Amino acid sequence: MLISYSLLPVNMTLKPIIGLEIHVQLKTKSKMFCGCDNTGENQPPNTTVCPICMGHPGVLPVANRQAIEWSVMTAQALNCEIPEFSKFDRKNYFYPDLPKGYQISQYDQPIGVKGFLEITDDKGEPKKIQITRLHLEEDAAKNFHSADGRHTFVDYNRACTPLMEIVSEPDMNSPKEAKKFVQELRLMMKYLNVSEADMEKGHLRCDANINLWELDDKGEKIAATPIVEVKNMNSFKSVERAMEYEIKRQTREYQRTKKTIKDHPKTTRGWNDDKGVTEQQRTKEEAHDYRYFPEPDLPPLNFSPKAPNAIDIIKIKADTVELPAARRERFIKEYQIDKAVAKQLVEDKKLAEYFEEVDSELREWLTALPEMEGTREEIWAKHGLKVTKLVINWLINKLMSYLNNDNLDITACKITPENFAEFITIIYQKKINSTIAQKLLEIMYQTGKDPSAIIDEQDLTGGTDQIDINKFIETTIAENPDAIANYKKGKTNSIMYLVGQVMKKAHGKADAGEVKKLLENKLTR
Ligand SMILES: [Zn+2]
Repeated sequence: MLISYSLLPVNMTLKPIIGLEIHVQLKTKSKMFCGCDNTGENQPPNTTVCPICMGHPGVLPVANRQAIEWSVMTAQALNCEIPEFSKFDRKNYFYPDLPKGYQISQYDQPIGVKGFLEITDDKGEPKKIQITRLHLEEDAAKNFHSADGRHTFVDYNRACTPLMEIVSEPDMNSPKEAKKFVQELRLMMKYLNVSEADMEKGHLRCDANINLWELDDKGEKIAATPIVEVKNMNSFKSVERAMEYEIKRQTREYQRTKKTIKDHPKTTRGWNDDKGVTEQQRTKEEAHDYRYFPEPDLPPLNFSPKAPNAIDIIKIKADTVELPAARRERFIKEYQIDKAVAKQLVEDKKLAEYFEEVDSELREWLTALPEMEGTREEIWAKHGLKVTKLVINWLINKLMSYLNNDNLDITACKITPENFAEFITIIYQKKINSTIAQKLLEIMYQTGKDPSAIIDEQDLTGGTDQIDINKFIETTIAENPDAIANYKKGKTNSIMYLVGQVMKKAHGKADAGEVKKLLENKLTR
Protein backbone atom coordinates (compact mmCIF):
# COMPACT_ATOMS: atom_id res chain seq x y z
CA MET A 1 0.00 0.00 0.00
CA LEU A 2 1.28 3.45 -0.90
CA ILE A 3 -0.26 6.51 0.66
CA SER A 4 -1.82 9.10 -1.56
CA TYR A 5 -3.57 11.61 0.65
CA SER A 6 -4.62 14.93 -0.74
CA LEU A 7 -2.32 16.57 1.80
CA LEU A 8 0.76 15.08 0.15
CA PRO A 9 2.73 17.25 -2.29
CA VAL A 10 2.51 15.88 -5.81
CA ASN A 11 5.88 14.19 -5.89
CA MET A 12 5.98 12.56 -2.48
CA THR A 13 5.45 8.81 -2.03
CA LEU A 14 5.24 7.36 1.48
CA LYS A 15 5.12 3.65 2.32
CA PRO A 16 3.94 2.33 5.70
CA ILE A 17 6.36 -0.04 7.46
CA ILE A 18 4.75 -2.14 10.19
CA GLY A 19 6.20 -4.73 12.55
CA LEU A 20 4.24 -6.50 15.28
CA GLU A 21 5.01 -7.81 18.76
CA ILE A 22 2.47 -10.29 20.00
CA HIS A 23 2.11 -11.67 23.49
CA VAL A 24 0.28 -14.97 23.80
CA GLN A 25 -0.90 -16.24 27.18
CA LEU A 26 -0.27 -19.98 27.39
CA LYS A 27 -3.02 -22.13 28.91
CA THR A 28 -0.74 -24.39 30.95
CA LYS A 29 -2.16 -25.86 34.16
CA SER A 30 0.29 -24.03 36.43
CA LYS A 31 2.14 -20.71 36.23
CA MET A 32 5.52 -20.14 34.54
CA PHE A 33 7.85 -20.44 37.54
CA CYS A 34 5.69 -21.76 40.41
CA GLY A 35 2.99 -24.35 40.98
CA CYS A 36 0.09 -21.86 41.29
CA ASP A 37 -3.11 -22.45 39.34
CA ASN A 38 -2.98 -20.70 35.95
CA THR A 39 -6.73 -19.97 35.79
CA GLY A 40 -6.45 -16.93 38.05
CA GLU A 41 -8.45 -14.69 35.69
CA ASN A 42 -11.56 -16.66 36.70
CA GLN A 43 -10.77 -16.69 40.43
CA PRO A 44 -11.22 -14.02 43.11
CA PRO A 45 -8.34 -11.50 43.17
CA ASN A 46 -5.10 -12.55 44.87
CA THR A 47 -6.15 -16.16 45.51
CA THR A 48 -3.87 -17.97 43.05
CA VAL A 49 -0.60 -16.72 44.51
CA CYS A 50 2.35 -18.09 46.47
CA PRO A 51 5.67 -16.76 47.87
CA ILE A 52 7.37 -17.36 44.49
CA CYS A 53 4.98 -15.35 42.31
CA MET A 54 4.69 -12.73 45.08
CA GLY A 55 8.46 -12.23 44.92
CA HIS A 56 9.29 -13.09 48.53
CA PRO A 57 13.01 -13.17 49.30
CA GLY A 58 14.81 -16.50 49.29
CA VAL A 59 12.39 -18.39 47.02
CA LEU A 60 13.50 -20.23 43.88
CA PRO A 61 11.69 -20.33 40.53
CA VAL A 62 11.30 -23.60 38.59
CA ALA A 63 10.57 -23.35 34.86
CA ASN A 64 7.35 -24.90 33.54
CA ARG A 65 8.37 -27.68 31.13
CA GLN A 66 5.01 -27.63 29.32
CA ALA A 67 5.37 -23.91 28.58
CA ILE A 68 8.86 -24.52 27.15
CA GLU A 69 7.63 -27.44 25.01
CA TRP A 70 4.69 -25.44 23.67
CA SER A 71 7.01 -22.54 22.84
CA VAL A 72 9.31 -24.86 20.91
CA MET A 73 6.30 -26.34 19.11
CA THR A 74 4.98 -22.87 18.22
CA ALA A 75 8.41 -21.74 17.07
CA GLN A 76 8.54 -24.77 14.78
CA ALA A 77 5.05 -24.07 13.46
CA LEU A 78 6.32 -20.56 12.65
CA ASN A 79 9.20 -22.09 10.68
CA CYS A 80 11.77 -20.84 13.23
CA GLU A 81 15.23 -22.21 13.83
CA ILE A 82 15.58 -23.59 17.37
CA PRO A 83 19.08 -22.74 18.66
CA GLU A 84 20.75 -25.44 20.73
CA PHE A 85 20.91 -23.22 23.80
CA SER A 86 18.48 -20.78 25.25
CA LYS A 87 18.40 -19.02 28.60
CA PHE A 88 16.28 -16.80 30.86
CA ASP A 89 17.29 -13.25 31.80
CA ARG A 90 16.18 -10.68 34.32
CA LYS A 91 14.63 -7.51 32.95
CA ASN A 92 14.83 -4.99 35.77
CA TYR A 93 12.27 -2.30 36.31
CA PHE A 94 10.12 -1.07 39.15
CA TYR A 95 6.35 -1.11 38.97
CA PRO A 96 3.66 -2.14 41.50
CA ASP A 97 2.50 -5.00 39.26
CA LEU A 98 5.99 -6.55 39.42
CA PRO A 99 6.66 -7.59 43.03
CA LYS A 100 10.16 -8.95 42.40
CA GLY A 101 11.36 -5.69 40.81
CA TYR A 102 12.32 -7.63 37.71
CA GLN A 103 10.59 -9.76 35.11
CA ILE A 104 12.07 -13.12 34.09
CA SER A 105 12.25 -12.94 30.30
CA GLN A 106 14.68 -13.89 27.54
CA TYR A 107 17.10 -11.32 26.14
CA ASP A 108 19.71 -12.51 23.65
CA GLN A 109 19.06 -16.25 23.39
CA PRO A 110 15.39 -16.78 22.63
CA ILE A 111 13.77 -20.16 21.97
CA GLY A 112 13.13 -19.56 18.27
CA VAL A 113 14.67 -17.27 15.61
CA LYS A 114 14.37 -16.49 11.89
CA GLY A 115 10.97 -17.93 11.05
CA PHE A 116 8.07 -16.78 8.91
CA LEU A 117 4.28 -16.86 8.72
CA GLU A 118 2.52 -16.69 5.38
CA ILE A 119 -0.46 -14.38 4.91
CA THR A 120 -2.24 -13.08 1.80
CA ASP A 121 -1.32 -9.51 0.88
CA ASP A 122 -3.74 -6.79 -0.24
CA LYS A 123 -3.68 -8.14 -3.80
CA GLY A 124 -4.55 -11.64 -2.61
CA GLU A 125 -1.03 -12.97 -3.25
CA PRO A 126 0.78 -15.06 -0.63
CA LYS A 127 3.32 -13.05 1.39
CA LYS A 128 5.83 -14.32 3.92
CA ILE A 129 6.12 -12.19 7.04
CA GLN A 130 9.44 -12.94 8.73
CA ILE A 131 9.49 -13.80 12.41
CA THR A 132 12.48 -12.28 14.17
CA ARG A 133 12.17 -14.26 17.37
CA LEU A 134 9.95 -16.12 19.79
CA HIS A 135 10.70 -16.08 23.49
CA LEU A 136 9.12 -17.04 26.76
CA GLU A 137 8.57 -14.84 29.80
CA GLU A 138 6.33 -14.32 32.80
CA ASP A 139 3.41 -11.91 32.84
CA ALA A 140 3.02 -9.08 35.36
CA ALA A 141 0.08 -8.62 37.75
CA LYS A 142 -2.94 -6.54 36.78
CA ASN A 143 -3.62 -3.02 38.04
CA PHE A 144 -7.12 -1.66 38.50
CA HIS A 145 -7.69 2.07 38.94
CA SER A 146 -10.69 3.35 40.88
CA ALA A 147 -13.11 5.59 39.00
CA ASP A 148 -12.15 8.69 41.00
CA GLY A 149 -8.49 8.04 40.16
CA ARG A 150 -7.49 8.06 43.83
CA HIS A 151 -6.84 4.35 44.33
CA THR A 152 -5.08 1.58 42.47
CA PHE A 153 -5.69 -2.08 43.25
CA VAL A 154 -3.40 -4.90 42.21
CA ASP A 155 -4.51 -8.45 41.41
CA TYR A 156 -1.48 -10.76 41.54
CA ASN A 157 -3.33 -13.76 40.07
CA ARG A 158 -1.80 -12.95 36.68
CA ALA A 159 1.73 -12.44 38.07
CA CYS A 160 4.13 -15.10 36.80
CA THR A 161 1.74 -16.66 34.27
CA PRO A 162 3.44 -17.86 31.07
CA LEU A 163 3.62 -15.52 28.10
CA MET A 164 5.07 -16.23 24.70
CA GLU A 165 6.31 -13.17 22.84
CA ILE A 166 6.45 -13.34 19.06
CA VAL A 167 8.23 -10.51 17.22
CA SER A 168 7.90 -9.99 13.48
CA GLU A 169 10.17 -8.12 11.09
CA PRO A 170 8.65 -4.83 9.82
CA ASP A 171 7.37 -6.64 6.72
CA MET A 172 3.77 -5.45 6.68
CA ASN A 173 2.88 -2.48 4.51
CA SER A 174 -0.79 -1.85 5.24
CA PRO A 175 -3.22 -1.96 8.18
CA LYS A 176 -5.03 -4.86 6.48
CA GLU A 177 -1.85 -6.92 6.30
CA ALA A 178 -1.22 -6.27 10.00
CA LYS A 179 -4.74 -7.40 10.83
CA LYS A 180 -4.36 -10.55 8.71
CA PHE A 181 -1.08 -11.40 10.43
CA VAL A 182 -2.71 -11.21 13.88
CA GLN A 183 -5.72 -13.23 12.69
CA GLU A 184 -3.58 -15.97 11.16
CA LEU A 185 -1.35 -16.12 14.23
CA ARG A 186 -4.35 -16.35 16.53
CA LEU A 187 -5.82 -19.18 14.46
CA MET A 188 -2.49 -21.00 14.65
CA MET A 189 -2.50 -20.74 18.48
CA LYS A 190 -5.97 -22.29 18.51
CA TYR A 191 -4.92 -25.13 16.23
CA LEU A 192 -1.80 -25.78 18.30
CA ASN A 193 -4.09 -25.70 21.33
CA VAL A 194 -1.59 -23.70 23.41
CA SER A 195 -3.77 -20.66 24.17
CA GLU A 196 -7.41 -19.59 24.24
CA ALA A 197 -6.06 -16.65 22.19
CA ASP A 198 -9.07 -14.47 23.02
CA MET A 199 -7.98 -10.90 22.24
CA GLU A 200 -10.77 -9.29 24.22
CA LYS A 201 -9.75 -11.19 27.35
CA GLY A 202 -6.11 -10.24 26.84
CA HIS A 203 -4.93 -13.77 26.03
CA LEU A 204 -3.41 -12.34 22.89
CA ARG A 205 -2.02 -8.81 23.07
CA CYS A 206 -0.60 -6.92 20.19
CA ASP A 207 1.81 -3.97 19.98
CA ALA A 208 2.89 -2.48 16.68
CA ASN A 209 5.93 -0.55 15.52
CA ILE A 210 5.07 1.72 12.67
CA ASN A 211 6.73 4.41 10.60
CA LEU A 212 6.74 5.63 7.00
CA TRP A 213 9.39 5.50 4.32
CA GLU A 214 9.68 8.25 1.79
CA LEU A 215 10.47 6.74 -1.61
CA ASP A 216 11.98 8.26 -4.73
CA ASP A 217 10.56 7.66 -8.24
CA LYS A 218 12.44 4.37 -8.47
CA GLY A 219 10.86 3.15 -5.23
CA GLU A 220 14.10 3.50 -3.25
CA LYS A 221 14.01 4.73 0.35
CA ILE A 222 15.18 8.32 0.85
CA ALA A 223 14.09 8.88 4.43
CA ALA A 224 12.15 7.27 7.27
CA THR A 225 9.86 8.92 9.79
CA PRO A 226 10.38 8.31 13.56
CA ILE A 227 9.21 4.90 14.79
CA VAL A 228 6.14 4.85 17.00
CA GLU A 229 5.20 1.89 19.16
CA VAL A 230 1.41 1.61 19.42
CA LYS A 231 -0.04 -0.20 22.43
CA ASN A 232 -3.49 -1.20 23.79
CA MET A 233 -5.00 -2.66 20.65
CA ASN A 234 -7.54 -5.16 21.97
CA SER A 235 -9.20 -6.48 18.83
CA PHE A 236 -8.44 -7.15 15.16
CA LYS A 237 -10.51 -4.15 14.25
CA SER A 238 -8.54 -1.88 16.58
CA VAL A 239 -5.24 -3.09 15.09
CA GLU A 240 -6.47 -2.01 11.67
CA ARG A 241 -7.99 1.27 12.87
CA ALA A 242 -4.95 2.24 14.95
CA MET A 243 -2.61 1.61 12.00
CA GLU A 244 -4.82 3.66 9.68
CA TYR A 245 -4.86 6.50 12.19
CA GLU A 246 -1.08 6.43 12.71
CA ILE A 247 -0.40 6.46 8.97
CA LYS A 248 -2.47 9.62 8.60
CA ARG A 249 -1.01 11.23 11.70
CA GLN A 250 2.59 10.48 10.74
CA THR A 251 1.98 11.66 7.18
CA ARG A 252 0.72 14.99 8.49
CA GLU A 253 3.51 15.33 11.03
CA TYR A 254 6.18 14.52 8.45
CA GLN A 255 4.72 17.18 6.17
CA ARG A 256 4.86 19.71 8.93
CA THR A 257 8.16 18.96 10.66
CA LYS A 258 10.17 16.93 8.13
CA LYS A 259 11.57 15.11 11.18
CA THR A 260 13.11 11.73 10.44
CA ILE A 261 14.13 8.75 12.50
CA LYS A 262 17.56 10.40 12.99
CA ASP A 263 16.05 13.44 14.71
CA HIS A 264 13.67 11.69 16.99
CA PRO A 265 13.87 8.67 19.34
CA LYS A 266 11.21 5.99 19.33
CA THR A 267 8.03 7.01 21.16
CA THR A 268 5.13 5.06 22.57
CA ARG A 269 1.50 5.91 21.92
CA GLY A 270 -1.60 4.19 23.32
CA TRP A 271 -4.62 3.44 21.13
CA ASN A 272 -7.82 4.96 22.52
CA ASP A 273 -10.57 2.89 20.95
CA ASP A 274 -13.43 5.19 22.07
CA LYS A 275 -11.87 8.33 20.65
CA GLY A 276 -10.33 6.54 17.67
CA VAL A 277 -6.92 8.17 18.23
CA THR A 278 -3.46 7.25 19.51
CA GLU A 279 -2.17 9.24 22.48
CA GLN A 280 1.41 10.03 23.45
CA GLN A 281 2.55 7.91 26.43
CA ARG A 282 6.25 8.13 27.18
CA THR A 283 9.63 7.93 25.54
CA LYS A 284 10.49 4.30 25.11
CA GLU A 285 13.19 2.81 27.36
CA GLU A 286 16.25 1.41 25.65
CA ALA A 287 17.35 -2.16 26.35
CA HIS A 288 20.20 -0.93 28.57
CA ASP A 289 17.70 0.83 30.86
CA TYR A 290 16.49 -2.62 31.90
CA ARG A 291 19.98 -3.87 32.94
CA TYR A 292 19.34 -7.33 31.50
CA PHE A 293 21.47 -10.10 32.97
CA PRO A 294 21.19 -13.93 32.99
CA GLU A 295 18.75 -15.26 35.56
CA PRO A 296 21.03 -16.92 38.15
CA ASP A 297 18.28 -19.08 39.66
CA LEU A 298 17.38 -20.96 36.45
CA PRO A 299 19.62 -23.30 34.46
CA PRO A 300 19.96 -22.54 30.72
CA LEU A 301 17.80 -24.57 28.35
CA ASN A 302 19.63 -27.17 26.32
CA PHE A 303 17.91 -28.36 23.16
CA SER A 304 20.79 -30.59 22.08
CA PRO A 305 19.60 -34.22 21.94
CA LYS A 306 22.72 -35.32 23.82
CA ALA A 307 22.14 -33.09 26.83
CA PRO A 308 21.06 -34.76 30.07
CA ASN A 309 17.37 -34.10 30.71
CA ALA A 310 17.20 -32.53 27.21
CA ILE A 311 13.93 -31.25 25.85
CA ASP A 312 13.31 -33.62 22.98
CA ILE A 313 12.41 -31.21 20.22
CA ILE A 314 11.82 -33.93 17.65
CA LYS A 315 9.06 -35.39 19.78
CA ILE A 316 7.28 -32.05 20.03
CA LYS A 317 7.51 -31.22 16.34
CA ALA A 318 4.59 -29.15 15.13
CA ASP A 319 4.21 -31.52 12.16
CA THR A 320 1.91 -33.63 14.26
CA VAL A 321 -0.65 -30.82 14.27
CA GLU A 322 -2.37 -29.79 11.06
CA LEU A 323 -1.99 -26.01 10.87
CA PRO A 324 -4.69 -23.73 9.40
CA ALA A 325 -2.86 -23.14 6.10
CA ALA A 326 -2.37 -26.88 5.55
CA ARG A 327 -5.97 -27.64 6.46
CA ARG A 328 -7.31 -25.01 4.02
CA GLU A 329 -5.20 -26.51 1.26
CA ARG A 330 -6.33 -30.05 2.05
CA PHE A 331 -10.02 -29.07 2.17
CA ILE A 332 -9.79 -27.41 -1.25
CA LYS A 333 -8.11 -30.48 -2.72
CA GLU A 334 -9.99 -33.24 -0.93
CA TYR A 335 -13.52 -31.84 -1.06
CA GLN A 336 -13.10 -29.63 -4.13
CA ILE A 337 -14.63 -26.67 -2.34
CA ASP A 338 -13.65 -23.14 -3.21
CA LYS A 339 -11.13 -20.99 -1.37
CA ALA A 340 -13.68 -18.84 0.44
CA VAL A 341 -15.61 -21.84 1.80
CA ALA A 342 -12.38 -23.54 2.94
CA LYS A 343 -11.37 -20.31 4.68
CA GLN A 344 -14.75 -20.04 6.41
CA LEU A 345 -14.62 -23.64 7.64
CA VAL A 346 -11.01 -23.51 8.86
CA GLU A 347 -11.45 -20.12 10.57
CA ASP A 348 -13.57 -21.91 13.17
CA LYS A 349 -11.58 -24.96 14.29
CA LYS A 350 -14.64 -26.60 15.86
CA LEU A 351 -16.71 -26.07 12.71
CA ALA A 352 -13.96 -27.64 10.59
CA GLU A 353 -13.93 -30.63 12.95
CA TYR A 354 -17.74 -30.92 12.80
CA PHE A 355 -17.60 -30.82 9.00
CA GLU A 356 -15.06 -33.64 8.92
CA GLU A 357 -17.03 -35.73 11.40
CA VAL A 358 -20.16 -35.32 9.26
CA ASP A 359 -18.08 -36.37 6.28
CA SER A 360 -16.85 -39.55 7.92
CA GLU A 361 -20.37 -40.40 9.19
CA LEU A 362 -21.71 -39.87 5.67
CA ARG A 363 -19.39 -42.57 4.32
CA GLU A 364 -21.07 -44.98 6.73
CA TRP A 365 -24.60 -43.87 5.84
CA LEU A 366 -24.01 -44.08 2.10
CA THR A 367 -22.38 -47.51 2.32
CA ALA A 368 -25.32 -48.80 4.36
CA LEU A 369 -27.93 -47.82 1.77
CA PRO A 370 -29.41 -50.90 0.05
CA GLU A 371 -29.32 -49.28 -3.40
CA MET A 372 -25.53 -48.69 -3.19
CA GLU A 373 -23.21 -51.18 -4.85
CA GLY A 374 -19.47 -51.64 -4.47
CA THR A 375 -16.95 -51.03 -1.71
CA ARG A 376 -17.03 -48.08 0.66
CA GLU A 377 -14.28 -46.41 -1.41
CA GLU A 378 -16.04 -46.99 -4.73
CA ILE A 379 -19.31 -45.61 -3.38
CA TRP A 380 -17.54 -42.53 -2.01
CA ALA A 381 -15.66 -41.97 -5.26
CA LYS A 382 -18.99 -41.88 -7.10
CA HIS A 383 -21.13 -39.90 -4.66
CA GLY A 384 -18.71 -38.17 -2.27
CA LEU A 385 -18.37 -34.80 -3.98
CA LYS A 386 -22.12 -34.51 -4.59
CA VAL A 387 -23.03 -35.13 -0.95
CA THR A 388 -20.23 -32.82 0.22
CA LYS A 389 -21.83 -30.05 -1.81
CA LEU A 390 -25.09 -30.70 0.06
CA VAL A 391 -23.25 -30.69 3.40
CA ILE A 392 -21.62 -27.32 2.66
CA ASN A 393 -24.92 -25.82 1.58
CA TRP A 394 -26.96 -27.05 4.56
CA LEU A 395 -24.19 -26.55 7.12
CA ILE A 396 -22.97 -23.09 6.15
CA ASN A 397 -26.08 -21.53 4.67
CA LYS A 398 -28.71 -22.99 6.97
CA LEU A 399 -27.43 -24.48 10.22
CA MET A 400 -24.82 -21.76 10.81
CA SER A 401 -27.45 -19.07 10.30
CA TYR A 402 -29.60 -20.66 13.05
CA LEU A 403 -26.56 -20.75 15.34
CA ASN A 404 -25.53 -17.18 14.48
CA ASN A 405 -29.05 -15.95 15.21
CA ASP A 406 -28.90 -17.56 18.64
CA ASN A 407 -25.31 -16.41 19.17
CA LEU A 408 -24.09 -19.98 19.60
CA ASP A 409 -21.13 -21.84 18.18
CA ILE A 410 -21.18 -25.30 16.65
CA THR A 411 -20.20 -26.98 19.93
CA ALA A 412 -23.53 -25.85 21.40
CA CYS A 413 -25.49 -27.36 18.50
CA LYS A 414 -27.88 -30.15 19.48
CA ILE A 415 -27.53 -31.88 16.11
CA THR A 416 -24.81 -34.53 16.30
CA PRO A 417 -22.58 -35.05 13.23
CA GLU A 418 -24.17 -38.50 12.89
CA ASN A 419 -27.70 -37.05 12.72
CA PHE A 420 -26.60 -34.31 10.36
CA ALA A 421 -25.07 -36.97 8.08
CA GLU A 422 -28.33 -38.93 8.14
CA PHE A 423 -30.22 -35.75 7.29
CA ILE A 424 -27.97 -35.19 4.25
CA THR A 425 -28.41 -38.84 3.20
CA ILE A 426 -32.20 -38.45 3.28
CA ILE A 427 -31.96 -35.37 1.07
CA TYR A 428 -29.52 -37.10 -1.27
CA GLN A 429 -31.93 -40.02 -1.66
CA LYS A 430 -34.62 -37.46 -2.60
CA LYS A 431 -36.87 -38.89 0.12
CA ILE A 432 -37.88 -35.33 0.99
CA ASN A 433 -37.88 -32.07 -0.94
CA SER A 434 -36.09 -28.92 0.13
CA THR A 435 -39.19 -27.34 1.73
CA ILE A 436 -39.60 -30.31 4.05
CA ALA A 437 -35.85 -30.57 4.57
CA GLN A 438 -35.87 -27.04 5.96
CA LYS A 439 -38.72 -27.86 8.31
CA LEU A 440 -36.90 -31.04 9.37
CA LEU A 441 -33.62 -29.24 10.03
CA GLU A 442 -35.40 -26.68 12.16
CA ILE A 443 -36.97 -29.40 14.33
CA MET A 444 -33.62 -31.19 14.57
CA TYR A 445 -32.01 -27.91 15.64
CA GLN A 446 -34.64 -27.34 18.33
CA THR A 447 -34.85 -30.88 19.69
CA GLY A 448 -31.61 -32.67 18.75
CA LYS A 449 -33.68 -35.70 17.69
CA ASP A 450 -32.59 -37.89 14.81
CA PRO A 451 -34.19 -37.07 11.46
CA SER A 452 -35.89 -40.39 10.73
CA ALA A 453 -37.68 -40.29 14.09
CA ILE A 454 -38.93 -36.76 13.35
CA ILE A 455 -40.13 -37.77 9.89
CA ASP A 456 -42.16 -40.64 11.39
CA GLU A 457 -43.55 -38.57 14.26
CA GLN A 458 -44.52 -35.55 12.22
CA ASP A 459 -45.61 -37.36 9.05
CA LEU A 460 -43.17 -35.47 6.89
CA THR A 461 -42.95 -38.35 4.43
CA GLY A 462 -45.04 -36.66 1.73
CA GLY A 463 -42.05 -35.92 -0.40
CA THR A 464 -42.15 -35.73 -4.14
CA ASP A 465 -44.55 -38.46 -5.02
CA GLN A 466 -44.42 -38.20 -8.78
CA ILE A 467 -47.89 -39.69 -9.45
CA ASP A 468 -49.66 -37.32 -7.04
CA ILE A 469 -47.88 -34.27 -8.36
CA ASN A 470 -48.70 -35.14 -11.95
CA LYS A 471 -52.32 -35.53 -10.87
CA PHE A 472 -52.26 -32.09 -9.19
CA ILE A 473 -50.68 -30.55 -12.29
CA GLU A 474 -53.33 -32.05 -14.54
CA THR A 475 -56.20 -30.70 -12.42
CA THR A 476 -54.52 -27.28 -12.09
CA ILE A 477 -54.18 -27.03 -15.85
CA ALA A 478 -57.82 -28.03 -16.30
CA GLU A 479 -59.02 -25.50 -13.74
CA ASN A 480 -57.06 -22.49 -15.05
CA PRO A 481 -57.61 -22.05 -18.78
CA ASP A 482 -57.04 -18.25 -18.60
CA ALA A 483 -53.65 -18.54 -16.95
CA ILE A 484 -52.65 -21.22 -19.47
CA ALA A 485 -53.71 -19.00 -22.37
CA ASN A 486 -51.75 -16.06 -20.94
CA TYR A 487 -48.68 -18.24 -20.53
CA LYS A 488 -48.92 -19.45 -24.10
CA LYS A 489 -49.26 -15.82 -25.26
CA GLY A 490 -45.86 -15.15 -23.68
CA LYS A 491 -46.79 -13.95 -20.18
CA THR A 492 -44.25 -16.32 -18.68
CA ASN A 493 -44.73 -15.16 -15.10
CA SER A 494 -48.24 -16.58 -14.96
CA ILE A 495 -46.45 -19.91 -14.46
CA MET A 496 -45.76 -18.91 -10.87
CA TYR A 497 -49.49 -18.61 -10.21
CA LEU A 498 -49.94 -22.16 -11.51
CA VAL A 499 -47.03 -23.42 -9.39
CA GLY A 500 -48.76 -21.86 -6.39
CA GLN A 501 -51.98 -23.71 -7.17
CA VAL A 502 -50.16 -27.07 -7.42
CA MET A 503 -48.29 -26.41 -4.17
CA LYS A 504 -51.61 -25.68 -2.45
CA LYS A 505 -53.03 -29.00 -3.60
CA ALA A 506 -49.87 -30.79 -2.45
CA HIS A 507 -50.07 -29.06 0.96
CA GLY A 508 -46.57 -27.69 0.51
CA LYS A 509 -45.06 -31.15 0.33
CA ALA A 510 -43.91 -30.74 -3.29
CA ASP A 511 -40.72 -29.09 -4.51
CA ALA A 512 -41.67 -25.78 -6.13
CA GLY A 513 -38.70 -25.85 -8.50
CA GLU A 514 -39.60 -29.30 -9.70
CA VAL A 515 -43.30 -28.42 -10.12
CA LYS A 516 -42.29 -25.43 -12.24
CA LYS A 517 -40.14 -27.63 -14.45
CA LEU A 518 -42.93 -30.22 -14.89
CA LEU A 519 -45.47 -27.50 -15.69
CA GLU A 520 -43.20 -25.90 -18.27
CA ASN A 521 -42.62 -29.28 -19.91
CA LYS A 522 -46.34 -29.92 -20.12
CA LEU A 523 -47.24 -26.46 -21.46
CA THR A 524 -44.55 -26.18 -24.11
CA ARG A 525 -45.25 -29.61 -25.53
ZN1 LIG B 1 2.77 -18.82 42.64
